[in-house]
Amino acid sequence: MSLYVMKFGGSSVGDTERMKRVAKRIAEKQDEGHKCVVVVSAMGDTTDDLIDQAKLLNENPPAREMDMLMTTGEQISIAMLSMALHQLGREAISLTGWQAGFVTESEHGRARILDIKPTRVLEALEVDKIVIVAGFQGQSESGEITTLGRGGSDTTAVALAGAIKADACEIYTDVDGIYSTDPRIVKVARKLKEISYDEMLELAHLGAAVLHPRAVEYAKHSKVPLIVRSSFNYNEGTVVKEEAVMEQGVVVSGIAYDKNVARISILGVVDVPGVLAQVFGALADAKIDVDIIVQSGVMEGKADFSFTVALSDQAAAVKVLEGIRQEVPYREVTTEDGLVKISIVGAGMVSHPGVAASMFEVLSKLGVSIKMVSTSEIKVSCVIDGEKLHDAIRALHTAYNLDTEEQVSVGGPQERR
Ligand code: ADP
Ligand code: ASP
Ligand code: MG
Repeated sequence: MSLYVMKFGGSSVGDTERMKRVAKRIAEKQDEGHKCVVVVSAMGDTTDDLIDQAKLLNENPPAREMDMLMTTGEQISIAMLSMALHQLGREAISLTGWQAGFVTESEHGRARILDIKPTRVLEALEVDKIVIVAGFQGQSESGEITTLGRGGSDTTAVALAGAIKADACEIYTDVDGIYSTDPRIVKVARKLKEISYDEMLELAHLGAAVLHPRAVEYAKHSKVPLIVRSSFNYNEGTVVKEEAVMEQGVVVSGIAYDKNVARISILGVVDVPGVLAQVFGALADAKIDVDIIVQSGVMEGKADFSFTVALSDQAAAVKVLEGIRQEVPYREVTTEDGLVKISIVGAGMVSHPGVAASMFEVLSKLGVSIKMVSTSEIKVSCVIDGEKLHDAIRALHTAYNLDTEEQVSVGGPQERR
């Protein structure tokens, strides 16, 4: 008998029919003789819909109230899934994040998990119940309800799997594994049998939505075997593990993209030592994550520089810059959205010079202008115009010999927005 954590994402529980199918899937696992803890997301687009509704009431809703609102989505799911399991004659119990013992930081909307006290989960397992836990939520030490950031149910599942020493954590989603790139965009994407924690971590950080980056961090740390597979079929999924077998000669193993990018430029800044420290210190104080930074040439003692932030931080970043104009004089601040960051990732890159150059060449042949670049030992990222995204991914996928004839399995695309 093994202990499994099974996580089902929003599209897998998009309506009551799907909820019934998920219940059946869990019952099958129990019939195989296993104990099951299930983590579930809000149904379909519920979280997006709640955010849209909140914005109709208040353009800038208080973060505390947003968490109070968003956590209701997962609560609906746990209650319904538990009911569906009872209908199948199974003993199940639903638990919110706080009932399951998730203690988090107090940072609303992006709280990190501080501790998990899974007493109630373990007690329920002891009496052979199926435990259904709400994803993406917790409670701060002062008793406030928090969320872990968009896509955070993956993190709930993997962290819980570590805390209860599960034998494996299975992430059930609407694709049947991790592919060389988003199989919704590239129909000739290649399904990976396995991928290393480090490569997956890089892909997730660079935007591959299939796993939440913090979930991969937890898996790497706790060494819980992590499997991504489809809730719509029984295909073998992808295993994320310490050392993955690399195909001979593969330099680029994956391509990721991130649409959540805004570029901010500060033009005509007085170029004296300490300016960058002041600007980015002020952004850090406002808890704004800065990604790529580029400084262009200095002319007559004035410099221009650009950086990227998440779209949701764009307005706040401009406000911070306006606030420090006295100390850091500049001519003008401009912003640009409608951009996308496209990245190639591969552990083999470090020993292959010229990978960045080959990426630039592929993009230039498509007439795509590269606005910003950032590189590390295992990735190259370029910020480009969002309209060129699909063409760019397809061209890079072909250029790095990733295309395959095998059919991708994408379930339920019509239901997503
Ligand atoms: P869930 O609701 O189950 O959490 P998500 O939408 O968060 O599902 O993640 C699954 C989606 O991730 C897929 O539908 C796919 O479009 C996208 N995706 C992006 N990159 C990849 C990749 N490399 N492999 C598989 N799926 C990917
Ligand atoms: N429901 C949350 C979201 O849409 C969490 C999750 O699905 O992982 O971001
Ligand atoms: Mg997800």
